[in-house]
Amino acid sequence: MFKALVLEQEEKKTIAEVRQLQVSDLPDEDVLIAVDYSSLNYKDGLAVTGTGKIIRDFPMVPGIDLTGKVLESRSDEFKPGDAVVMTGWSVGERFWGGYSQQAKMKSNWLVPLPDGLTGQQAMAIGTAGLTSMLCIMALEEGGITPDSGEILVTGAAGGVGSVAVALLSRLGYKVAAVTGRESSHDYLRKLGATTLVTREEMSEKCRPLEAQRWAGGIDTVGDSTLARLLSEVDYGGVVAACGLAGGVGLPTTVMPFILRNVRLQGVDSVMCPKPRRIEAWKRLSELLPESFYAEASQVVSLEQVPEMAQKIIAGQVQGRTIVDPNL
Ligand code: NDP
Repeated sequence: MFKALVLEQEEKKTIAEVRQLQVSDLPDEDVLIAVDYSSLNYKDGLAVTGTGKIIRDFPMVPGIDLTGKVLESRSDEFKPGDAVVMTGWSVGERFWGGYSQQAKMKSNWLVPLPDGLTGQQAMAIGTAGLTSMLCIMALEEGGITPDSGEILVTGAAGGVGSVAVALLSRLGYKVAAVTGRESSHDYLRKLGATTLVTREEMSEKCRPLEAQRWAGGIDTVGDSTLARLLSEVDYGGVVAACGLAGGVGLPTTVMPFILRNVRLQGVDSVMCPKPRRIEAWKRLSELLPESFYAEASQVVSLEQVPEMAQKIIAGQVQGRTIVDPNL
């Protein structure tokens, strides 16, 4: 028997409960994993609280990320003892996920744990950190370099934002961070931000083109924040848009695109092809300094997940939250 967080739906409300399961309860996928850690992302918050229609079939074990060791494998790619990481692929939404001491996964969802990274560090990165790296790769592919100028990160004290600030700083970029929390200013400075911008300033209604301030941006918020970012990006700048923490709208015009040659690049981590994931994980393992893990992550148990899920939806979680199912 092993422990897992199970979601059920009763009278349209989502109920989360830690239960004892056995291996025969798990869906039949080709790799059985002893889970060392999972993590809490915004999407997990939506799933566990039932805020978003993330989950259609109940019961469901949530948790969109996991890392652990292979216990049994019917795949030639993995053997017992291999350390693996899984993020995305609709796990924790359509397929049972990582908030469990054991999990069964499809082998093609798994990547080897990169050399030099512990399982706990991999989950301090998780989907959020992978997404940050993919956003930076999008900026680079758009021709942005540290010499281009300052990069603005929105939702900066959240998971994606925190990793993005740390990575950009490590790569030599000048980083500006947008946050709604004054209490996070010191934290963001420690991660490498040199300019702090208030959430109010960035969500104010803007003209189609404002004064040019940023060489590029990483946006986790959407809506009026993304619209303002686009209106303030330099000629030829690039914005990577990956989130909707402030809303799904985009009240902008074509002006930044047709008059300033601005590029808006969407970023998805869920269905990201495996070779690109492996490249992103390698760079993450090489780039993030030890201080990032100490500064930007906390560890919680399965029992604490429902409370933390409420907090992440309310925008009250700073940095990354690692879930240890063995606590
Ligand atoms: P977090 O909750 O950790 O971070 C979101 C941050 O956004 C908050 O910490 C807060 O930052 C800011 N924020 C929250 N509410 C608002 C608001 N109403 N207006 C403006 N800012 C707000 O979530 P994650 O970092 O895990 O995810 C961020 C976003 O990215 C989510 O929308 C998520 O769904 C998306 N995402 C997308 C992925 C993809 O593959 N495309 C993968 C991972 C995440 P602060 O306090 O600093 O203002």
